[in-house]
Amino acid sequence: MRSETALLQLLKKLQSLEASRDRQQIAESVVVAALEILDAHSALLHSVRPSPEGMLTIPCAWAVRGGISSITDMDSLDSEKNQLSADPLLEVCAATPDGIAADDEGGTMRLAIAIRQHNTTVGIFDVQCAQEPSEPLLDCVRELFSIYAEHLVLLDYAELDTLTRLCNRKTFDENFDRFIAIAEEAQRRNSEQPIGPDTLAPKFCWLGVVDIDKFKRINDNFGHLFGDEVLIRVADVMKKSFRGSDKLFRFGGEEFVVLLRHVSAYHAHMVFDRFRQAVADHEFPQVGKVTCSLGYVQIDPSLTPAEMLSRADEALYFCKENGRNQIARYEILIQKGLIAAPVTPAAITNEDLQADIDALFD
Ligand code: GH3
Ligand code: MG
Ligand code: MG
Repeated sequence: MRSETALLQLLKKLQSLEASRDRQQIAESVVVAALEILDAHSALLHSVRPSPEGMLTIPCAWAVRGGISSITDMDSLDSEKNQLSADPLLEVCAATPDGIAADDEGGTMRLAIAIRQHNTTVGIFDVQCAQEPSEPLLDCVRELFSIYAEHLVLLDYAELDTLTRLCNRKTFDENFDRFIAIAEEAQRRNSEQPIGPDTLAPKFCWLGVVDIDKFKRINDNFGHLFGDEVLIRVADVMKKSFRGSDKLFRFGGEEFVVLLRHVSAYHAHMVFDRFRQAVADHEFPQVGKVTCSLGYVQIDPSLTPAEMLSRADEALYFCKENGRNQIARYEILIQKGLIAAPVTPAAITNEDLQADIDALFD
């Protein structure tokens, strides 16, 4: 009976997994399904990523018996990064050919199951059970994870830029919608903060547009292959400069877009300028030094993605016109009168409306 229920649950989860493109939701769904199949107490899914300091584990979803489950808060992702080597069980799991490691912790069995793509461990399922699961149930869970890993490969193929492995332009609108939801929530929290000496600086979401300076000259002088290498390296610098919870896109050519999550105006400036400086400091093979310019704007939930992009673009254009290798914020440029304020449609009065209505019935 139990195995029939487990099978049915598995089929239902597989169905929802196949239909979804939201990686966080898929992770949560997989954790809940595996927890139920193994009849476990609690389970945590770590994503495993390479970094210059070695392999890292980052928690992405968890569940406990009784139905409580969650996708990890995106803002905490960076603070909860760990070295894979910090947890011996996870380290053994990633290293063993069968991708399973177990530890008996005083009556509770802790099991780590590796999730692999082409023999590379990309995730680890970390689960606490009352007893060792049977081999068929374990096989069932491993199958679930191999389908999950395949699904992630397909998502990568559809959503990542093939040269830089950043998100492609197609995915921008839907990511932007999620950012808008977060920005609205951030605005709500800002307005609820009591004003006083301990008031934290308000936090917002930000959109930055990056363009490599004089990139055409790099192609012309060194050829397209070296040009492509510059694009790959700038993308790598981006990945290191921003948090895992920020979103990075290649918009085509040598243009990139950053969605920066929930930071104060001061920090947004600092983070964007740190990235600009990191590119300027980088030694590009053969090409030597490369710089970039960046225009950015605070995300305003009442504007469309196209309007926000065009504002960040205006700030970028200002940088290009004023020496390149710099960053500029749209609102500051407007405030200082360095660029023209957007033209707002004139307010419509009741008299105007009445005149329009009268004209309709004339
Ligand atoms: P600015 O500082 O004003 O941005 O000058 P720029 O030369 O970077 O600007 P422009 O937009 O004129 O040049 C962009 C160049 O990027 C032109 C195009 O040949 C090149 N490009 C576009 N896509 C790719 C690509 O995928 N690979 C390579 N190597 N070059 C590309
Ligand atoms: Mg360009
Ligand atoms: Mg350029």
